[in-house]
This record gives sequence, structure tokens and C-alpha cells, in this order.
Amino acid sequence: MSVIYTSTRGNGGSLKASEAIIKGLADDGGLFVPDKLPEFGFGLDELKDMDYKETAYAVMSLLLTDYTEEELRDCINRAYDAKFDTGLIAPLVKKGDKYFLELFHGKTIAFKDMALSILPYLLTTAIRKNRINKKVVILTATSGDTGKAALAGFSDVEGTEIIVFYPKGGVSRIQELQMVTEKGRNTRVFGVNGNFDDCQSGVKAIFNDEALKKELDEKGYVFSSANSINIGRLVPQIAYYVYAYGSMLKSGELEAGEKVNFVVPTGNFGNILAAFYAKKMGLPVGKLICASNSNNVLYDFFKTGEYDKNREFVLTASPSMDILISSNLERLIYHIAGNDPVKNRELMESLQRNGRYRITEEMKEGLSDFYGVYATEEQTFAEIRELFNRTGYMIDTHTAVASFAESVYRNESGDASKNIIISTASPYKFARSVYKAIKGEVSSEDDFVIADDLSDLSKTGIPDAVRQIRNADIIHNKVCECSEMREAVRGSLV
Ligand SMILES: *Cc1c(COP(=O)(O)O)cnc(C)c1O
Repeated sequence: MSVIYTSTRGNGGSLKASEAIIKGLADDGGLFVPDKLPEFGFGLDELKDMDYKETAYAVMSLLLTDYTEEELRDCINRAYDAKFDTGLIAPLVKKGDKYFLELFHGKTIAFKDMALSILPYLLTTAIRKNRINKKVVILTATSGDTGKAALAGFSDVEGTEIIVFYPKGGVSRIQELQMVTEKGRNTRVFGVNGNFDDCQSGVKAIFNDEALKKELDEKGYVFSSANSINIGRLVPQIAYYVYAYGSMLKSGELEAGEKVNFVVPTGNFGNILAAFYAKKMGLPVGKLICASNSNNVLYDFFKTGEYDKNREFVLTASPSMDILISSNLERLIYHIAGNDPVKNRELMESLQRNGRYRITEEMKEGLSDFYGVYATEEQTFAEIRELFNRTGYMIDTHTAVASFAESVYRNESGDASKNIIISTASPYKFARSVYKAIKGEVSSEDDFVIADDLSDLSKTGIPDAVRQIRNADIIHNKVCECSEMREAVRGSLV
């Protein structure tokens, strides 16, 4: 059964998976969505005997139907290898009475590695399959973690160039150093004087800039995206939800068929949307708990049915979730409108024009799979401290938002199902905030000294990702205004 991809706004054509991965964003400005979500072809009790790669193949082959088995298995084998510091790839751990799915064992110690380790292979395979003889330019806006994960994934990959824009001053010191020390010859990194939404809007505008596309086409370039608007990011993310379920079966924490809830620290809504797709494909999932920080636009949306980005943008200790325009929500809107591109387009135009939209009562019923919670900075820090004091387990600020939300949900709902907290980054990536949460104040002005201290405290080793940037040279030091992003791209591609 082949799955076709169409745009959430209705005028983006009908594409095969590989074509949609190359394009990234649809020509009408919408996002690609699968025309169906096939049911899993395996029995749930089989899951406990499947390793990560087998699970990934079983899931991804249902949605990337124009890839041959050989192509897809090759992509999976090359992605989920010794780059990860554990053969489990995505270990599920129990600490106290909480379950964490650790998605930070890849090269850049954040969950973006789960999809960005495989996207370059999916994309280069797609280019080969579709006989495209152009260089693919990956344009990426990052709130901190996508940038480095994409740079690492695409570094020196033949036939690709990658350009990353990050909010100058809006990412952690370690995140910034990870990006600006990137050595790949095909990589460019720019700080932008603006926030993540500015970066993302700038990149989207470049994608929709016909004159620029034409000019670069003549020079032999075609744009694609490594952001979670690309279905090549979204599809691999479904796999770890299924894998988590298998791990719970294996350890006897769940019976096959028993419902589980996922608590997802959310920014651009990509990760939690993958969980929603997993549910629609047949994974026994109860609620999807959408955990936000003080930029709680999604919390308000789930409560009221109104999405309103007209509010102050807050810089928090969980910067990868400092987002007011959650791109992937557009896919959910499209689905709860009954896969209606006309209705979706209306709402997105309202968002563009007025910064807000309200969904109908009928659509609101489609949100019943979700439950919104948000954590203030104080609650986030307290969560890190209390969990550490109780269990000795150290979590990063993003995971802490979710861990807090898990407790809130448990108290408010009375739901006795098990909740799996999606752990999206290593505490070392946000060493300063984590240390401060536990000890009250930082031990040094130097983030690397703080990392040493975290290591002593938690009795865990400093990850290679942090070790490697400690004395690395800064290669990328360009900063631009939002209005200069287009020229930055032109200037990078001669
Ligand atoms: C990107 C990111 C998130 C948010 O994920 P979305 O898919 O954008 O919702 C949460 N935590 C960390 C550490 C991240 O890097």
C-alpha cells in the first residue's frame, strides 16, 4: 500500500515520500502530510523482541513506501550505529516512580539526533532515486539543538550544503559552541539578531522566494529543510515511541495492549506529533501530555481552542522550547479539521495576518488526545533538584518541564496509566542551569568547569560531545539581522 504526501494547504501536489523529503516544505507554503496512516503490521507482543533498528524498519517502511527494503535498511543501519553511545539507541529507564525514554545518546546529546542521524541518508537516497543532479542546500532555523544535530548529520556529505541560522543570545553557551566550531567544509552557521520565530519565519520566506529559488536553480542548487517540517524528520521519530512500548513490555512494566501516556517537552510540536501518529497507527496510547515552558501558547490553545501568539516571548532555561509559532501544529490542525486543506489554510492565513486563530467546537473535540501543562522557571528548577535529591538522577531543563508536567497530570487526572517522560537532552548540554537548580548558584563562570562539577555530583562521565568542543577553534562567527538572511544564503552559494 503506497502512501502519498499532499500539502496541508491543498495546492502542493501529490508526492512520493522521497520527493517530499527533497522538497521539505510544499510549494504552497504548507506542510506535507501522509494521505493515510497505515496500521502497524506487527503484533504488539512481537515488539519486545525487536531491537531499535528492526523497530525503525517496521515503522518507517509503512510510511516511506517508495524506498525499497534494501534502501531503507541501509539508511537505518548507517544511522543507528556506534555514533550512539549505547547499543539500545533509546534506553528506557525507571527512576523512582518515573519512566524516562532517553533520547540523548547520539552525537550531539539531544533528541534531534534520532531523526537527523538518518535524514542525510534518506535525502541522499532520495536524490539518487529521483535522478536529481543538483546540489541540495539544507536551510535550517534552530532553537539550539537542531542546528548542531543537522550540521553533524550533513557534515561533508557529498552533494549537500548546509546553512544554519540560530538566535544570537537565545541558545546555551554549549549549544552555541557546538555549532560555531563545526568543521565540515559544506557547513555555514549564522547568528541572527532575533529570536527563534524570527529565524524560522526568515527561512520559510526564503523557501517561498520564487526569484531566489530560480536564481539558485540556475546555479545548480535546490533547497531542502532539516527542520521538523520535513517528513524525513517526523517519520523516524515515530519509531522511538513504538520502541519505548516494546521496552516496557520487555521489562514487564506493561501488558501487551495496555495503554501508556507520553509526556513530551514541546516547542515546534514535531516530537509530540510523531507520538500522535504512533497512536493513530495502532500503538496503545492514552493521553499525549504536551509540556510547555513559560512560552505557554500551546497550553492556552488546548484549554481554549484559540491559538494566539501575540504575547511576550520569554527567554527561559529550556531554550529549545522557546517558540511561539509551533510549525507542526499545522499538521494537527489539518487532521482535526477532517484533513481539510481549505479550513486549515483559512486558519493559517489568520495566524499570518493577526497572529491568532480559533478552531471550531467540532475541531476542539479532536484535541481530546492531548493534555496541556506548563512549568514556570521556578517549577522547572525545583523539579531537577527534587528528582536529583530523591533518586540521584540528573535531568536537563527540557526534560524537567516534562517531568513536572507528569506529576501535574497524575494529580489532576487521576489516570492510573503509566506515563513515559520523553527525555530530550543530556543535562550536560545545559550544565549551567542544571547545576544552579541543584546547588542554588553556579560554581564557575566557565561552563566546562561546571560540567566537571556536574560530573562529580552525578558520578557520570562527561559526554564526548562536550569534551570535543572544550578547546575547539571557532570557525563560524558571522552574525546578521533578520532582514539579511536572504543575502546570507545568496552569499554562501556561489
Ligand atoms: C527541539 C527540542 C525540544 C522540542 O521539540 P519539538 O519537536 O520542537 O516540539 C525539546 N527539548 C529539546 C532538548 C529539544 O532540542
